[in-house]
Amino acid sequence: MRPALRRAALYGGLAAVVLAGWAAHRRLSGDARAAADPYLGPEAVSGTLGSERLYDLLVRTGSGAGEAAEASRALARVQSPRTLRPSDHYRVVRSTSGALLGLTLVHGLTVAAVVPKDGGFVARARTLPVETETRAARGTISGSLWASLQSRGAPAEVVVAFADVFRWSVDFLTEPRDGDSFSVVWTERRTPDGRVLGREIEAAVYDGRVAGRKVGLLFDGDYYDESGQSLRRRFLRAPLQYSRISSYFTNRRYHPILRIYRPHHGIDYAAPRGTPVVVVADGVVVFAGRRGGYGNAVEVRHGPVYTTLYGHFSRIARGIRRGVRVHQGQLVGYVGSTGISTGPHLHFQITKNGRFQNFLTMRLPFAHAVPRGKLASFRARAKALLAAVGGVHGA
Ligand SMILES: [Zn+2]
Repeated sequence: MRPALRRAALYGGLAAVVLAGWAAHRRLSGDARAAADPYLGPEAVSGTLGSERLYDLLVRTGSGAGEAAEASRALARVQSPRTLRPSDHYRVVRSTSGALLGLTLVHGLTVAAVVPKDGGFVARARTLPVETETRAARGTISGSLWASLQSRGAPAEVVVAFADVFRWSVDFLTEPRDGDSFSVVWTERRTPDGRVLGREIEAAVYDGRVAGRKVGLLFDGDYYDESGQSLRRRFLRAPLQYSRISSYFTNRRYHPILRIYRPHHGIDYAAPRGTPVVVVADGVVVFAGRRGGYGNAVEVRHGPVYTTLYGHFSRIARGIRRGVRVHQGQLVGYVGSTGISTGPHLHFQITKNGRFQNFLTMRLPFAHAVPRGKLASFRARAKALLAAVGGVHGA
């Protein structure tokens, strides 16, 4: 059937059907909504616009052509018809004799209302207040993170955000185990009629058998752990607590043992023998063992782009061997002087797409912490958030 014909069949004078439809609409949605929606009167018809034009909507709900045209024109003065979306919500209120008493249209945060005045219609628009509600979900993992969080009432958007908060600290593909616990607190911004405008995680805890206990607290638009260290980190600033840098990255350096000029494609960190060395980012060990001038060395691949190498170890840490997955900050070895070395130090180098890079000048997403000046307010907020998320271990 052609659209015009269909419209004619639907609206063209089948008043009884329309009126019956009204009654049904009122029973189905009107009465149900009236309880929840203080704006909705008993004589109202409401719904979403869909593809219907406002004029057609008014005619369908009982207006004559003149009334529908006038009311549409009035509304257009405060809300351009071009901006309307199918999801916009309307409400039409009529007197018992069918005269239009009011038309409201909710578009985004704007409510436009048309009311009769002096034999015609006037329109005005106002902006809806936004309500913020805090919600929470907690439970234990059974099956997937996704299913477990959703079964506890977390919307999909929150589950995605939860995984994102811990992107640098938990591998949600391989690390979750049944029985791991999670807790998340988020705020929801809504309009008074219940439409959700946005959700943001305020605090999240993941406590896993493999992943360990991870905390994410929102502060100044970034997520931090309980001690104020940013979670949004990919590389540590340095792989150890060092006393000084004894050799910088250079393409030409006189080698004191080899007595030749040659490039030094890494950083030498002077540190006492036995100082623990940690991996600067999550990755997989691709080499662990004796490697020429590097002595006892460990090489780690961090995704497809970066690799790091740690050399001259007195000893490689237990469990570090080819194929093992390592986490940022995990111990990989101890400072020593094996291979070609003049004294205890760590030789550290990084490649990006196979090319040596100067780690000290690379633009990497480094770890950062809450600035000293904001620590007091961070601590106050962290305390409140941790109480809300129910994870005040040892505090
Ligand atoms: Zn070196």
